[in-house]
This record gives sequence, structure tokens and C-alpha cells, in this order.
Amino acid sequence: MSDEQKVAIVTGAVRGIGRAVSLKLGQEGYSVVVNYRGDEAEAETLCDEIKAAGGDALAVKADVTDADDVAALVETTMNHYGRVDALVNNAGITRDTLMLRMKEEDWDAVLTTNLKGAFLCSKAVLRPMMRQRSGAIVNLTSVVGLVGNVGQANYAAAKAGLIGLTKSMAKEAGARNIRVNAVAPGFINTRLTDVLSDDVREWAMGIIPLDRFGEPDDIAGAVAFLLSADAGYITGNVLSVDGGMFMAT
Ligand code: NDP
Repeated sequence: MSDEQKVAIVTGAVRGIGRAVSLKLGQEGYSVVVNYRGDEAEAETLCDEIKAAGGDALAVKADVTDADDVAALVETTMNHYGRVDALVNNAGITRDTLMLRMKEEDWDAVLTTNLKGAFLCSKAVLRPMMRQRSGAIVNLTSVVGLVGNVGQANYAAAKAGLIGLTKSMAKEAGARNIRVNAVAPGFINTRLTDVLSDDVREWAMGIIPLDRFGEPDDIAGAVAFLLSADAGYITGNVLSVDGGMFMAT
């Protein structure tokens, strides 16, 4: 397999940021493993689009919170492509409510998907990446993981935890030429932000210097850069892609 035919696993790939990242990597010639947990038809459509854009793609169903599913996801990738060069831990959920009203299951669901899911997927790719002596992982954290947010204690804790995971893995795996970075989006137009109230939108717009919500493609470019050889000396970093929001808070 030539250097150009790199293999990337993108979790939660069928919509929003994951979809944009998958298409971008496809355009760059990657073979993309499109992970989904339910929507097979959407996953297959995305694979067709990636192939039309010049990449290759394989849809693999897996719930990132399930260790057996995750092991099967990486095994299927290895059986099909024989290598894994990149992992994008993108799958994520929110269950927003104020701390006093937050149920234990809201806490567990958000921590398990956003943080444990990334741990399980990263652990599963580490062995093949170590054998290859190369690899790159990008974790989708959030501006909320950096500054906290009212009504998002579970999500902020998970996203802050991802930053600790990113830096620890970067230290553990660096000697094997495996880089681990995080991208911290601000407010991006996806299903996750569709549910925001007008009040929250107005507040956010008031503190975003670039004066707009981001688009999934804004994030895809940053993820592709961090996975690329151009970022070959960058590890353990958190790249804010937020229209200046973190700086302004
Ligand atoms: P979306 O809700 O549009 O997409 C999330 C994706 O994750 C969906 O495809 C979803 O699948 C998948 N997913 C959720 N749980 C699991 C699971 N257990 N196993 C496999 N896949 C799963 O969200 P975004 O595109 O907006 O978010 C992508 C990432 O970016 C998330 O980690 C999010 O926290 C982060 N982010 C987003 C921001 C934003 O403003 N949009 C800001 C900062 C960070 P399904 O369709 O089946 O539910």
C-alpha cells in the first residue's frame, strides 16, 4: 500500500462534523472507515460520496461505548485494509440540564459516549499503530471543555477529560511516532446546535469575534491538517476552531 492510500476511522461519521471530516479525508485520498451506530442507509450514501470524491470507504456499524463493538470495528478495518493510519474520535452526544436537575443517567450517558468511547477506540488502534510505528489521532473536544457552560456539567467534564486523555496518550505514544491532538470547536451548525434556544444563540453570537457560527467544513479542514504530514511535529495540542470564542470568553 502506497503512502497516499492512508486509512482513517471516523466515529459517528454519518452526519454533522463527522460527515464533513469523512468527505474531506476522502477528497484527500484516504480510505475512510465510516463508523455509524444506526443509520446504515446514510452510511452507505456517505461511502458512495467518498468514493465519488476519489477516496475509498467502508461502512462499519459499532457503538463506541461497547468494547466488543469497538474491537470488531478495528478488526474489520485491519482485515479489509491491513492498516490504520488515523482515528478521529468524533462520536458525541449532549444531555443538557442544570446540575440540580441532572440525572445520574444523563451524566453516565455523556461521559460514556464522549470520553469512554474515545478511550476504547484509541486503545484499540494503538496496537496496530505501534506495530506500524506511525499513526495520528484527533479527538473532538469543545470550547465548553475549556471554559465550562451552564447546563452542560456532564458535557464539559467529558470534553475536559478528553483533553487530559489527548495529552496523556501523546506522551505515551510519541516515541512510536504516534501523534495525538484535539480540536476544540466553538458553536458549529449541526444537529447538536439546532436545539439551542434563541437566548443562547444570541449570547453566543455576542461573544464570537468572527460573528457567525462555524460550519462542519471549518472543523474538517483543521482535523485533516492535524492528521497530515504538515502537522508531523505537532502532538498533545488543542486547536481551537471557534471563530475566536475561547479567546473572547
Ligand atoms: P451530531 O449530533 O450531528 O453527530 C454526532 C454523531 O455521533 C452522530 O452521527 C451520532 O450517531 C454519533 N454517535 C453518537 N453516539 C454514538 C455512539 N455511541 N456510537 C457511535 N456513534 C455515535 O453532532 P456534531 O457533528 O455536532 O458533533 C460531532 C462532535 O463534535 C461531537 O463529539 C461533539 O461533541 C463535538 N462538538 C460539536 C460542536 C457543535 O457545535 N456542533 C461544538 C464542539 C464540539 P446517531 O446519528 O446514530 O445519533
